[in-house]
Amino acid sequence: MSLRIFYSPIFREHRPEGYHPENPTRLDYAIRGLSENGLWDEEKILEPSPASPSDLLLIHDGEYVERIRGLEGSFSYLDPDTYVSPGTWEAALSAVGAARAAVEAAVEDRGLYLALVRPPGHHAGRSGRAFNASTLGFCIFNNSAFAAYTLKERRGRAVVIDFDAHHGNGTQEIFWNDGDVVHIDLHERDIYPWSGYEHDIGGRGAEGSKVNLPMPHYSTDDDYILAWMEIVLPVLEETKPDAVVVSAGFDGFLGESLTTLRLTERFFRYAGATLSRYPLAVIFEGGYSVGLMRALPAFVKGYLEGSVEERGIEPSYEAIRTVKTVLEIQREFWGI
Ligand SMILES: [Zn+2]
Repeated sequence: MSLRIFYSPIFREHRPEGYHPENPTRLDYAIRGLSENGLWDEEKILEPSPASPSDLLLIHDGEYVERIRGLEGSFSYLDPDTYVSPGTWEAALSAVGAARAAVEAAVEDRGLYLALVRPPGHHAGRSGRAFNASTLGFCIFNNSAFAAYTLKERRGRAVVIDFDAHHGNGTQEIFWNDGDVVHIDLHERDIYPWSGYEHDIGGRGAEGSKVNLPMPHYSTDDDYILAWMEIVLPVLEETKPDAVVVSAGFDGFLGESLTTLRLTERFFRYAGATLSRYPLAVIFEGGYSVGLMRALPAFVKGYLEGSVEERGIEPSYEAIRTVKTVLEIQREFWGI
């Protein structure tokens, strides 16, 4: 099973003035975690070509793209969370290009293709903030949505799994009425961006193509493994995808400070292993410290090794209840 990483130093050129959790050091953490696990060497690294501004119009509206382009060259804040710096425009175009390259490589050849990109993307909707979110949540253009769009163009449909600790509201908004894009999203409930609840199943004609798992605060590996076993894997099996786009955030890892989730290597290794039968385009989203050093390599190793230790799980009552609710709602659309 092969691993290739689309990466460019240009992704460091999107940088804050002063302290901000979404900064170039995140790439150092990710590279350190991969290196320490023997997953980073020069042969695996590929330089992505940037997307063109007109490519962006496939997932964003022209006014939003021009607004970002117009900020090129100086530092400003789009909203209280999200900055644009002199290198942002080029970094963001290359991030979208890397997402496209990863999904194209995944459909051509089995294996895991990681787009190790900044700025992140899954909160960016068609024209910026999605579903009335308060901010863009550090995101500029939606890299995962672009990967999903590319996959759908090639194969007629696409599947996205988003396990970032926050709801992938931008991706979901972009494909809300598109039943050919199945989007399964696990995230902590009742935190930013305050969307992605059980009854959010997609727009008219696309019902059931959006599967939201708003997990309880303080969820553990066992809670996430339950949701993964009961819902993510059966839905995935039923769609029989040629390749899967993973919107991969590692901010649910224990010790990451933006959420209360308490995931460890165990969940991420398990998730990677269970996806090893599918070619993957893994698009880098959140994760700000220890999750990048530990959860990212655990996910990749799980995928490459392809097996998981069988062990019983003890999910919380709240997690069981959430999974049951989702099963009851989605049963109308899926054989689950
Ligand atoms: Zn996140």
